[in-house]
Amino acid sequence: MIRKKIYGVYGASGFGREVLPFAREYVEKESDGELFFIDDSFDEKICNGCEVLSFDAFKKIRAQEKFVSIAIANHNIRRELAKKCIASGMKNWSLVAPNVVCLDDVKMGEGVILCPFVTLTSNVRIGSYFHANLYSYVAHDCVIGDYVTFAPHVMCNGNVVIEDDVYIGSGAIIKQGNSKKRPIKIGKGATIAAGAFITKNVPDGVTMIGNPARILSRDSLKGKIL
Ligand code: UDP
Repeated sequence: MIRKKIYGVYGASGFGREVLPFAREYVEKESDGELFFIDDSFDEKICNGCEVLSFDAFKKIRAQEKFVSIAIANHNIRRELAKKCIASGMKNWSLVAPNVVCLDDVKMGEGVILCPFVTLTSNVRIGSYFHANLYSYVAHDCVIGDYVTFAPHVMCNGNVVIEDDVYIGSGAIIKQGNSKKRPIKIGKGATIAAGAFITKNVPDGVTMIGNPARILSRDSLKGKIL
């Protein structure tokens, strides 16, 4: 039998289980869709009422179309799995919780996940595979790169540019940039710790902690208060 459409939430750990309810709601609205978890090292066959398959088992199912959402916070893993899925002919599946608010002129790339209570305001650009966890917001004129991850309650104020692969911990606040032309920029691959308050540009690849935020790692910059 060839199924019409199947859907996979990749990752049956913490984030995957948080995403599953609104993934399920979406699939239930499709008359002939079927939903699976995809996980390569999960002990149980069923998780929260959903069948768990390895990637290879999901790949073997005969279906006209396969859609996958990668519900794993680590951006390196997300990138590798996204490549693998696309190479196997699967399509990106963006998951947006029903109560997400997008105000005006919001453009998003592929494969994003927006959890409940997320708000994107006006004139916002979001890259591919962005994750915004519960209650996070992105305000006006922000530009967010690919594989960026927001933990719950990240407050990203207006005129902020966030480059690819940045991770921002729970409750971090990014101060508003001066203008669209002079934004606050968070460099590629930076990590912002939970609760940090970012007031100035952040170099690539550093870890920032505290209020005001200072650099925790990358030897030449360590301890510098921005
Ligand atoms: N995982 C997988 N294939 C991979 C890498 C990870 O199936 O190549 C699964 C892993 O088995 C785990 C989940 O992805 O169940 C990631 O869980 P973790 O708790 O690390 O991440 P989180 O849910 O917090 O994003």
